[in-house]
Amino acid sequence: MINVDKKERQKQYRKEHSKEIYTLQLIWNKKHPEKIKQYGRKYYQTHKEYFRIKTQKYLRKLKQKFIDMLGGKCVGCGYDKFIGALEFHHIYPEEKESKYEYYRKDFEQKIKDGKIQLLCANCHRETHYGKNTQISGTLSASSIILIFE
Ligand SMILES: [Zn+2]
Repeated sequence: MINVDKKERQKQYRKEHSKEIYTLQLIWNKKHPEKIKQYGRKYYQTHKEYFRIKTQKYLRKLKQKFIDMLGGKCVGCGYDKFIGALEFHHIYPEEKESKYEYYRKDFEQKIKDGKIQLLCANCHRETHYGKNTQISGTLSASSIILIFE
């Protein structure tokens, strides 16, 4: 009974002094950056799966948004069944910076500028090997090299 009262009183105290407690916490955090880093690392290690799923959800949502912006289907063959088999083709490959570039800030602008095409995995591979003649103006420097090899 006494313990319950004590807990209640602590709860009440925290409620009434929340701003002070928060300020003190910030001061302590600033004084102990190494401990905060350690705590962060530990938290990440114990919540790895949570972060993985959260990131995956975020990236899939982002990908869906860009797919919708690009018409929702492969420009080569019209495929639209599975988001995992749809890829972003860079018309100007020299501007491509990483494999998963769509989470970069300027990707949306690239779509608006008409620099990105939506292709299914098959059409994308064919394009990069220079076999797909239906998609004009999308041959990258590497695929041109392959044609001449
Ligand atoms: Zn296709």
